[in-house]
Amino acid sequence: MDQTQINTWRAKDIPPQTHLIDGKNAPASDSATMEVTSPIDGQVITTMARGTAQDMQAAIAAARAAFDDRRWAGQPPAARKKVLMKWADLIDAHALELAVSGVRDNGTEIGMAFKAEPGSAAGTIRYYAEALDKVYGEIAPTADDVLGLIHREPVGVVGAIVPWNFPLMIGAWKLGPALAMGNSVVLKPAETASLSLIRLAELAHEAGLPAGVLNVVTGEGAVVGEAMGLSMDVDALVFTGSGSTGRRLMEYSARSNLKRVYLELGGKSPNIIFADAPDLDEAAKVAAMGIFRNSGQVCVAGSRLLVEASIHDEFVDAVVNVTKALKVGDPLDLENHIGAINSETQLMQNLQSVETAQREGGTVTLGGGRILSETGGYYMDPTIVTDVTPEASLSQKEVFGPVLAVTPFTDEAEATRIANATDYGLAGAVWTQNLSRAHRMIRAVRTGVMHVNTYGGADGTVPLGGVGQSGNGHDKSLHALDKYTDLKTAWVKL
Ligand code: ADP
Repeated sequence: MDQTQINTWRAKDIPPQTHLIDGKNAPASDSATMEVTSPIDGQVITTMARGTAQDMQAAIAAARAAFDDRRWAGQPPAARKKVLMKWADLIDAHALELAVSGVRDNGTEIGMAFKAEPGSAAGTIRYYAEALDKVYGEIAPTADDVLGLIHREPVGVVGAIVPWNFPLMIGAWKLGPALAMGNSVVLKPAETASLSLIRLAELAHEAGLPAGVLNVVTGEGAVVGEAMGLSMDVDALVFTGSGSTGRRLMEYSARSNLKRVYLELGGKSPNIIFADAPDLDEAAKVAAMGIFRNSGQVCVAGSRLLVEASIHDEFVDAVVNVTKALKVGDPLDLENHIGAINSETQLMQNLQSVETAQREGGTVTLGGGRILSETGGYYMDPTIVTDVTPEASLSQKEVFGPVLAVTPFTDEAEATRIANATDYGLAGAVWTQNLSRAHRMIRAVRTGVMHVNTYGGADGTVPLGGVGQSGNGHDKSLHALDKYTDLKTAWVKL
């Protein structure tokens, strides 16, 4: 990937986008469209279908028909594997196209987007393609006169609702295991990050996925997402996004067919720095990137920095210095480290969170404002707020933007208490050379993932999921297969 190739892709017109239902491109039932605005410069780059409830029902009907006639689940595992492997190859072959259209849509810096989006999506699809013929049923240890069989079956029609920060990566976390296990899927991308997912689904069909097995319906969450949530024909909802939408999905399920609901709802993750961290300079660098990469629009972002009081001032200075060196700007320019905020609405919410933090006694030590507004795009200075109390809104509410809350602590017990004093529990980190303390903190901090002497590393082999109001269920690894399979038992009298 070089700048010239990136520029070639960014110069291309993107044709008006439609749904993908039953293997065919389809406009909205009432032909309505919505503009796709690029956060890079605030310009409209194309339109897409503004889906109706009827469109969602058509997609669900196509998925149901495809599941019921077993056109996908009924194929031999080797055949399904071949299709998914080919799909992954096509994702790789179209990686730059996918990455650039995704960045024009959502604003993530291209260096990160290229790796984290098509790169990781292809890897994820391959991982589950390889896994699909290694999932066995079981025979129960019953008495001799019976045979207890435990089959693993696909759940049926899966509704996947994904957010705008990493549409391909998070989309693949759902699509990979769902399709590998033989389910049909209806995918609802976020309003502000649909383009690359539509293309991803087109590539799946090019790879040989039968029509109806993967459908994409674009439009407003409150319309098409609600229609999906309330459907009597969707068997499971898998979601990554905000807590308020997650709650709605559980209500939809309760009001309809009690479909299973798996939620990944973000966090307010603590990055805990003890004075005996092995390398404080490295810790400062990683702490800055742990919050500021993709402008903090990362569910596992280390948005709370808890620093041992004895090193607080010096460590904050180090983080400030690292952050000052980060260049914010056009996300398609390889020289920039940080891109745009996804939407003007999100930018305004970020700025609001800084105002509230100040009102509640926080000190804006770096940044705090909108920048580059002359571009027409949505950019924000990486922002560090110190003197943030554990009770302050900035410690309690996820911003989903480049805003770091810094809080001092005096000892391990206080660090643990502050770390656990939110409703969330997604990620966290502890920096210390003391092995026993590291393991005590892994146990004591209530999160789905704890890092030790690093922040944010992971790969497809380790599950990702939250506790508390960060959600339930896991993406990634073989554990993700649990969401997309049911156990069916047979009791056979011999
Ligand atoms: P964020 O704050 O990250 O945008 P949201 O929860 O609003 O989080 O969005 C995540 C996904 O949820 C998007 O695809 C969005 O369209 C969808 N969504 C939003 N509102 C609803 C709703 N009422 N029902 C179903 N899906 C929704």
